[in-house]
Amino acid sequence: MATQECSIGTRFTLPFGKRKLIGLLIGISEHSEIAPEKLRPALKALDTDALLPDSLFNMCLWASQYYQHPIGEVLNNALPTLLRQGDSTELNRELRHKLTTKGELIDADDLKRAPRQAKALLLLREHPQGLTQKALSSLSVTPAHIKALRHKELVQQTHMEHIRSWPIAESPLAEPALHLNEEQALAVSTISQKQNTFTPVLLHGITGSGKTEVYLQLIEKSLCEDKQVLVLVPEIGLTPQTVQRFRNRFRCAISVLHSGLTDNQRLQSWLKARSGETHIIIGTRSAIFTPMIRPGMIIVDEEHDASFKQQDGFRYSARDLALYRGKKENIPVILGTATPCLESLHNANQKRFLYIPLTKRAGDARPPLFQLLDIRTRRLNNGLSAELIEKMQHTLKKGEQVLLFLNRRGYAPTLICHDCGWMAQCPRCDARYTIHKNPPHLRCHHCGDKRTITSSCPECGSRDLLPVGQGTEKLEDTVRELFPETTVQRIDRDSTRRKDAMSQIIQQIHQGKPMILLGTQMIAKGHHFPNVTLVAIVDADGGLFSCDFRAPEHMAQLIIQVAGRAGREGKAGEVVLQTRQPEHPMLIRLLQEGYRSFADGELLQRSAAQLPPYSYLALIRAEAANEDVCFDFLNHVRELLAAKMGDNPLKLLGPVPAPMTRRAGKFHAQLLLQAPQRSLLNQLLTPFLAELESTKEARRVRWSVDIDPVDLY
Ligand code: ADP
Ligand code: ZN
Ligand code: ZN
Repeated sequence: MATQECSIGTRFTLPFGKRKLIGLLIGISEHSEIAPEKLRPALKALDTDALLPDSLFNMCLWASQYYQHPIGEVLNNALPTLLRQGDSTELNRELRHKLTTKGELIDADDLKRAPRQAKALLLLREHPQGLTQKALSSLSVTPAHIKALRHKELVQQTHMEHIRSWPIAESPLAEPALHLNEEQALAVSTISQKQNTFTPVLLHGITGSGKTEVYLQLIEKSLCEDKQVLVLVPEIGLTPQTVQRFRNRFRCAISVLHSGLTDNQRLQSWLKARSGETHIIIGTRSAIFTPMIRPGMIIVDEEHDASFKQQDGFRYSARDLALYRGKKENIPVILGTATPCLESLHNANQKRFLYIPLTKRAGDARPPLFQLLDIRTRRLNNGLSAELIEKMQHTLKKGEQVLLFLNRRGYAPTLICHDCGWMAQCPRCDARYTIHKNPPHLRCHHCGDKRTITSSCPECGSRDLLPVGQGTEKLEDTVRELFPETTVQRIDRDSTRRKDAMSQIIQQIHQGKPMILLGTQMIAKGHHFPNVTLVAIVDADGGLFSCDFRAPEHMAQLIIQVAGRAGREGKAGEVVLQTRQPEHPMLIRLLQEGYRSFADGELLQRSAAQLPPYSYLALIRAEAANEDVCFDFLNHVRELLAAKMGDNPLKLLGPVPAPMTRRAGKFHAQLLLQAPQRSLLNQLLTPFLAELESTKEARRVRWSVDIDPVDLY
């Protein structure tokens, strides 16, 4: 095949040993390092045009370099499975039946002797766009009737061509927009002036400030220009409620990309976005790879959320890719949140991002009142103080709802022997088994191992085994005992496993009857529960003493997000934090001065310690059956790097054991690279990793590179 026939970004069938594989052409070269007799020609070209728009293709090339990940796997993330398997890029157009001109003109009485056909004719007259057989069958018109009409040349088949979901001259709105408050209006007008330029925006709106309404009105403006909008939401944010708000507002086609789609549905959504047929695309992390022919804007909602960073394989950050993509496509990228990550706040401080604050709650909702409840000397009833229980009673009596937050699922975090102190430890991890009650079993949350609950201690034989600490299941038991008359609903990964469970629970909450909700961080995210007025964080101390430098940031985000569920409509909200650290400076600053002040304090500390965002990190992780192999490998890496560094002011920290050294029977260790500039990491790593791959040490362990790691474990 001559090179001039090939265009970059198209697929080919290729011979690979005895197999045939599909490949994507990523570059054309006149020379090859491989001997000519070993080169084989491609078998067949599958596309005439590139699969991805240039901007997206370049984003993939860039991401491959930046994240030090093979381009093939990057493209695997970007392309729908069926395209990777060689499927066609033709959209499955619906086959419809519509009248021919003859059919439009004929008098239905002419079909008197075939009354069913006459009926079908009249039906189709009401539907000039035609109807699918499915729709016709539901109106009791069978394929045989249609066949007869086609035979008489009264009906023809047609493939639905690109139909606009609304006439572009008309408003794209299906319902009127809300009247914006001053801050929201300023946000909308400022951002919409930047419609055709790359503008990164940090929309920092407190919980309940009406960020979604700002998105909706910005999207409206994009739609009026016939542009498409991509909306990224956290995994858990993709609830039917979120999607419904978009569907209620607009008349245009909306594509929702979620894990429940079949491969074919995913391909069709992808193709429709690529051809411009859908105007709004909503999806989680991987939706950042959805092509758009007329891109207008990218929105990253809850930009601080950890789910935007892929934690294995190709470890990209969808938020950072959104920024890169926005630059290539010359469009605004809006990062919205009540609790910006410190990287984004730093970018705003440096004026690299346009900073737009929303400081007031929308409508007549007011921010909640915080109360730190010192539980050091108080007697607790399974984790609940008497003060909290009283507040719960009071709230329920007023007909309102209570939300309890506890970030530990299961019944209790560990099982201990009262006589000898033995604890149920997972043999494969540095972690204890969590007790689950329904059904009763022990489970390791790190490797998934399950076993039955022993009735006697394997060390001393004592039968006095006790659950220690509490998880959401136990909290649920306690609350049900204390409030036997009240509906109690637990929300965590276990209680929402069943399909649709979450949306049923949310519907029940929205009925507004007094009830107690309790759960893990699943309840912290984005939900709007109008009748929740009391929120309690049962144990606020969890994140205060972690060794990860991002722990305080994540803890503060969680507290603010959970608290943000309180008092979201006219009624005042209250947030109670039970703590044994009521004097902790971080808690005090966060609650008295707010997230921004807390974050500025954290930024100062990060700057002093030269931690991100004041430096850039790469983490090399290794995993092997024993510790020595891990360390030998990482020491080898360290030596090689040190030899290459020259005057590169990069720092090598480690190797050290990972915070959880043993997981699923394997040892984990890591080496951290810290650079004052982003580019230094790449300069060093790109040639180095290519070399490392061919060394024998690299074949004895599983290893990976994580650029801009979020979790240092
Ligand atoms: P956020 O995403 O910032 O937490 P939402 O967009 O969910 O906030 O808005 C919170 C509530 O306020 C929603 O019920 C929304 O309909 C309402 N709301 C938003 N903007 C306005 C407005 N301008 N006037 C009245 N109500 C509003
Ligand atoms: Zn014992
Ligand atoms: Zn385990």
